[in-house]
Amino acid sequence: EGANSNNNNNISSVISGWFSEISPMWPGEAHSLKVEEILFQGKSEYQNVMVFQSATYGKVLVLDGVIQLTERDECAYQEMITHLPLCSISNPKKVLVIGGGDGGVLREVSRHSTVEQIDICEIDKMVVDVSKQFFPEVAIGYEDPRVKLHIGDGVAFLKAVPEGTYDAVIVDSSDPIGPAQELFEKPFFKSVSKALRPGGVVCTQAESIWLHMHIIEDIVANCRQIFKGSVNYAWTTVPTYPSGVIGFMLCSTDGAPVDFKHPVSQIDESARPLKFYNPEIHTAAFCLPTFAKKVIEAK
Ligand code: SAM
Repeated sequence: EGANSNNNNNISSVISGWFSEISPMWPGEAHSLKVEEILFQGKSEYQNVMVFQSATYGKVLVLDGVIQLTERDECAYQEMITHLPLCSISNPKKVLVIGGGDGGVLREVSRHSTVEQIDICEIDKMVVDVSKQFFPEVAIGYEDPRVKLHIGDGVAFLKAVPEGTYDAVIVDSSDPIGPAQELFEKPFFKSVSKALRPGGVVCTQAESIWLHMHIIEDIVANCRQIFKGSVNYAWTTVPTYPSGVIGFMLCSTDGAPVDFKHPVSQIDESARPLKFYNPEIHTAAFCLPTFAKKVIEAK
C-alpha cells in the first residue's frame, strides 16, 4: 500500500506544458493536449473559463477543466446536434437553443432557410463574450438577425415558454456536474415537451456510451415516459471529448410521427460547405454497438 501511494506521488498529475482533462466524470483516464499558449483565464459567476492555443487542434475552450470545443473538431459536434433534429422535420420555423453560448449551434441552425426565429438561452455571458473574442468562426452564429440571445438559466426560461411554441429545441449543455445538472433531469424534459408543438423535436447532448451508460439509461427512461412520439439515441465522433465519442437523445412529441433515421430535408451548402454532416452519416448515427443497443432498447 505504502509503496503504491509513493509511486503515485512520483507521477505528476499534469505533464508540464500539456492540458490534461482530469475529472471524476471519467475516473482513471485523462486526455491531454499540448499547450502552446494560454490566451484567456477567467472566473464567471458559474464556472472557470479558459482558452488556450493547442499544438494540433487549434484554439480550445475549457469550462471548469472540461473541453467544450476545439477549432479542429467542433464541426462534428455542432453539425450533428443541429442537423440530426432539423433535417428530420420539414419546414422548422421556431428553434430554441439551450446552452450553446459559443454560438456554433446557432451558426448551424442559420443554414435552415425556413427558420424564422432562433432563441438561445445561455446561463453564462462570459462564454458568449469569450467565444466572440477568440472563436469568430463559431460565434459567427450570433450575426444572424433571426437570433435572439437570452442570458439566464435554461430551466427557468423553458418553464416560462408558452405551450407548443417551438418546432425544435436543441440542448447544447455541458456535463451534469455544475450549472447544467438540471438539464439532465426529468422536470426539465417535461418543460421541453410542453414547449414543443405536436410532432416537434428535441435533441440533447447525451454523453458517451463508453463512459456514461448509467446516465444514458436514466435519460432514456425519462424520455420514454415523457415523449410520446419517438425516442432515439444517436452518436458521433469528437476526438477531443472524453472517450472520443458523444451521443444525442432525439425525441419527438405526440403528433405527426417523426422518423429520425431518415432525413426529410437537405442543407443548402452554397454559402458555406458542411464539414461533417451528410445524409448517410445522419442515418448511420442511429446504429448502435450491441452493448449500448441492449441497454437503450430495454428501457
Ligand atoms: N457547443 C459546445 C461544443 O461544441 O461542444 C458544447 C458546450 S456549450 C459551451 C455548453 C454551455 O451550456 C456552456 O456555455 C454553459 O455555460 C451552458 N449551460 C450550462 N448550464 C446551463 C443552464 N442551466 N442554462 C443555460 N445554459 C447552461
